[in-house]
Amino acid sequence: MRVPKEMAAALGCLAAVFTAAAVGFSPAQARQRGQAPAPSPAPPGQVSAGQARGVGRQSQGAAVRLLQTDGTVVTLPLEEYVQGVVTAEMPASFQPAALEAQAVCARTYALQQAQAKKHAADGADVCASPSCCQAYAPSGGDWGDRAPEYEAKLRAAVQATAGQVLRADGALISAVFHASSAGRTAPAQAVWGAAVPYLVSVSTPETAQTVPRLESEAAFSPEEFRETVLAKYPQADLSGPPESWFGAVEKGDWGGVVQVTIGGVTLSGGEVRSLFGLRSARFDVAAGEAGIVFHVTGYGHGVGMSQYGADLMAQDGADYRAILAHYYPGTELGSI
Ligand SMILES: [Zn+2]
Repeated sequence: MRVPKEMAAALGCLAAVFTAAAVGFSPAQARQRGQAPAPSPAPPGQVSAGQARGVGRQSQGAAVRLLQTDGTVVTLPLEEYVQGVVTAEMPASFQPAALEAQAVCARTYALQQAQAKKHAADGADVCASPSCCQAYAPSGGDWGDRAPEYEAKLRAAVQATAGQVLRADGALISAVFHASSAGRTAPAQAVWGAAVPYLVSVSTPETAQTVPRLESEAAFSPEEFRETVLAKYPQADLSGPPESWFGAVEKGDWGGVVQVTIGGVTLSGGEVRSLFGLRSARFDVAAGEAGIVFHVTGYGHGVGMSQYGADLMAQDGADYRAILAHYYPGTELGSI
């Protein structure tokens, strides 16, 4: 998705995109995500948000001012906030090392946003909206009898990484993540138009056998398809038969669609994803008299850490350091 610069700046990180059908997902996780981050890490040498607010170097003393969905602001100890983000953003059934990696992403993201003063006008550091910043939930809504076990598991993951953040060239990184990719993650440049040295395409281990709904289909009748395209792109010429509507589909070497021409109008893969509500911009398309079918793999924007990939790496014995080093190459793990 090529997001205009001002829009990218207004949007937060993230975009875990889970389905309620998968294990242990809360409503926040089930929500469709896919927003762009502001891929503009702060210049090297800046102090952390915690230091800037004079809360000291110990994460135990750091706090996050959270703008809640009801519009009120609550101040939470940093690590309590991080646990709530991991609760909302990743299934508690995932491997401890994946949850630990997610905790580092959540902490890094919050402090980076605080530093960028994204919600300064609200008197907050971050908000709890997954379409803006990152989701937050004090406990898992669907944990049932396993709540004590899962809560202890998540608390352990947060404590194991307490105070740890990722930096590149001394600056907190934009720790974006997504639910799943197939084969390779997407480079930030292809999705948001700006290259970020640590958000490049890397391999990722998901397969259709190991990830629920890694592959999906979205089908439209010719009429539905025509109406959807013309509502947004009235200049498109969809007067001929459906098989004549598509030009060549240009893909990047990570497997995602860079651009495709529909009715003479050239759209990015992200624009097509958004227009038709596809789970990712990694798709093939077949068009005929019966309709248009998108065959889609992965879920989310595809940039940064793949959450399912992290879980599979953890199952294979990787610790959170190895997971983070793999998905954010060239970054350093350090203290706030
Ligand atoms: Zn926000």
